[in-house]
Amino acid sequence: MSAISEPGAAPRSRVVEQPGHGESFTEHMISMEWSEAEGWSEARTTPLEDLRIHPGMLGLHYGQVAYEGLKAHRRADGSMGVWRPYDHARRFQRSCRRLAMPELSVETFVAAVDRLIDADQGSLSDDPAHSIYVRPIMFATDTSLMLRESRTYRFLVMAFVAGGFFGDGVESVSVFASHTYSRAFPSGTGDVKVAGNYAPSFLAQREAEAAGCQQVLWLDAAERRYLEEMGGMNIFLVRGGGDRAQVVTPALTGTLLPGVTRDSILTLAERLGHEPVEERISLDRWRAECEAGVMTEAFACGTAAVVTPVHRVVDRGSEWTIGSGKPGPVTLALRSALTDLHHGLAADPDGWLHSPVDHRRR
Ligand SMILES: *Cc1c(COP(=O)(O)O)cnc(C)c1O
Repeated sequence: MSAISEPGAAPRSRVVEQPGHGESFTEHMISMEWSEAEGWSEARTTPLEDLRIHPGMLGLHYGQVAYEGLKAHRRADGSMGVWRPYDHARRFQRSCRRLAMPELSVETFVAAVDRLIDADQGSLSDDPAHSIYVRPIMFATDTSLMLRESRTYRFLVMAFVAGGFFGDGVESVSVFASHTYSRAFPSGTGDVKVAGNYAPSFLAQREAEAAGCQQVLWLDAAERRYLEEMGGMNIFLVRGGGDRAQVVTPALTGTLLPGVTRDSILTLAERLGHEPVEERISLDRWRAECEAGVMTEAFACGTAAVVTPVHRVVDRGSEWTIGSGKPGPVTLALRSALTDLHHGLAADPDGWLHSPVDHRRR
């Protein structure tokens, strides 16, 4: 594990009172470089600043770029808690491996995240709806247009202050099943967080918006029958109601991103007495079960979206409403269970909330 350099006399960050959507960057970044001969360099903390890159930088042309997204919240006592950074570190290793990039040890990844939180926690207000969204990224830095893997890489960690993803309240969204485009296909890269997965989704998002929906619902690429996930979110359905409700999510078939939030919700569902279920579910069956009153709620989840209710589905020109069209009780209970854990307000038997180490005092 590499040592983390001192931040020097960097001034503490100013509080961001009104976070935008991904543009209220905090003031620092962490950088490391990798080469075959030297391995990973020591981590440096610097002000967040523009990069100087050669126009022929390999990662820019061939997409050898992997990233993560995780959040830190302020606890009631003012201390910071980072949500499941070790799980994000392990997923980052899988993403990098899939793109033939060097791996970063889990400890180095978490130390870099801690270091940035330590430097920039002053940007976060006391508003519990706000959080620091941390964005680690690794990219290929060789100057070469040969179609080959790079021999040098850079790892950066930056962050922005996040408000509520879809606004600060619990607003619900409508989804549009895409029959035109696919997000992922078997043995591709749908199960890792790599940059190339996202640009191809923008046209589908346009199509969804043109149909009056906020989000794309991705179906499996082979048959276009089974639910997979949403833009940067996994999807959950609630079957039945009350204590015996099933909390259902599409099974991980290799074309879905295994969300850390998805995993948290499956555990919390069981803790609240529900039955967590991972199954392959078709759009037609979902619709039939909604119309029969069996499926009562639906929601999307992810680091950015937290838990966001889904109230309407548009599929090939027809549409249906989920339950009453209002956020359901199981959805809201899971949402509060999760946000309580984020803020250190609930028992945390799995040790998911991590306290960043203050590196200056070590
Ligand atoms: C990041 C992401 C998610 C959510 O993962 P979390 O770990 O919960 O943030 C879901 N789907 C896709 C495609 C993603 O990129």
